[in-house]
Amino acid sequence: AQLRQILEAEQQGADDRARATRIQYGADEVEAAIANDELVNHYQPKVSVRSGEVVGVEALVRWQHPRDGLVYPDQFIAVAEQHGLIEGLTRQVLCGALRQCRQWHDRGLRLSVAVNLSMSSLVRLDFPEFVAAAAKNAGVDLSWLVLEVTESQLMHNPLTALDILTRLRLKNVTLSIDDFGTGHSSLSQLRDIPFNELKVDAGFVHNAVRDSARRAILEASLDMAHRLGMKSVAEGVENLADWQFLSRRHSCDIVQGYFISRPLPAESLNAWVADWDKRSTG
Ligand code: C2E
Ligand code: CA
Ligand code: CA
Ligand code: CA
Repeated sequence: AQLRQILEAEQQGADDRARATRIQYGADEVEAAIANDELVNHYQPKVSVRSGEVVGVEALVRWQHPRDGLVYPDQFIAVAEQHGLIEGLTRQVLCGALRQCRQWHDRGLRLSVAVNLSMSSLVRLDFPEFVAAAAKNAGVDLSWLVLEVTESQLMHNPLTALDILTRLRLKNVTLSIDDFGTGHSSLSQLRDIPFNELKVDAGFVHNAVRDSARRAILEASLDMAHRLGMKSVAEGVENLADWQFLSRRHSCDIVQGYFISRPLPAESLNAWVADWDKRSTG
């Protein structure tokens, strides 16, 4: 019953976000939420187009608000970023995701886990050491960790960002460029930074079959990822048409979106994967 509530909240949250702007919480409230452990990670599956297998998950933070219920990141991430709270939030999300990864592996689910970074992590030279220590603590090899970075996050202090990302890469962390196509960076950053994965933004994926401009950007991005030796991920796969379009392309490696699954609470992932495997192998 509780799971149903959470899934309905995920559904509702997505619908609400399509509408107007929603309230932003105050910095003191967000700070208290972090201190009181009210943040939880949900996890959205990433599926290999070729094999149909679940290869990993992306951690997406939610706030289990004592009064308002499940609150989405667009209502508190910006506040956390503006008030120096994002570093603590990122560390909580990261440590939680690594512990969860260990538990899944113990139960035979060999999944990678992706965590979204903010700019603040990319200006702190001690961040790679923190990541390594957190993984060691959780008993997870760093090759199972994916860090997602958006193009605009690289802009602030590109040299420090490059330094930090290179150190993470040398530790065998997988680096992913997120929301590709929406940023303002020059493409040369893709050459300088050792990214392993490129995630095409949902805005170019959903309905690409019917919209030739989206399709052009989607296909060019997928091709470019391959030419640069990166894995390609399409986000925002919302319906059968999106899925069929991508599965006919040889250039898309991994898909993620509501058509596969909404983000799920950690507890329900094992059952979801078992069910998915049954459906995809017939
Ligand atoms: P993102 O990293 O681009 O994450 C993907 C967002 O798209 C998620 O929204 C996810 O629930 C949603 N989504 C998944 N499949 C579909 C689909 O088929 N269609 C559509 N329309 N949307 C889909 P969510 O969870 O609300 O997160 C929003 C953003 O908040 C994320 O965008 C990310 O930028 C940020 N965020 C989430 N968790 C964290 C975190 O732990 N740290 C930081 N710094 N940012 C986070
Ligand atoms: Ca992301
Ligand atoms: Ca994204
Ligand atoms: Ca986004």
